Amino acid sequence: MEHWKPGDIRWEKAPPEHFTGEVLFGPVRHDGSLNVLAVSFAPGARTDWHYHPGGQVLYVTEGAGLLQEEDEAAVEIATGDVIYTPPDLAHWHGALPDSPMTHYSHTTGAPTVWQPRKVTEEEYRRGL
Ligand code: MN
Repeated sequence: MEHWKPGDIRWEKAPPEHFTGEVLFGPVRHDGSLNVLAVSFAPGARTDWHYHPGGQVLYVTEGAGLLQEEDEAAVEIATGDVIYTPPDLAHWHGALPDSPMTHYSHTTGAPTVWQPRKVTEEEYRRGL
């Protein structure tokens, strides 16, 4: 058994090419089938557009943010929320402009597929 307490997370800078703003990764578990990753977004920070071949469960543990699926309006997400995104559905997630947001990401199967598409300021603001 591995038992992680919040203080056990080893935060590192997320690869900047896939994000806007300041984002930290806290790897928890990656055993080839299950990938659990804490992700901490500074206010205004967000992912690029992407999808997960095996889907994704997000569990928000701190703050508040936005999540948008392709062809849908962005929705606000906050501490305690759990969100499931189906396989291959393009989306992005991030923090609100005035709040940080931390979530745990749970994925299985093939790695995240990053699209060459940033979330523009206009797209982001439209979600508010
Ligand atoms: Mn995602």
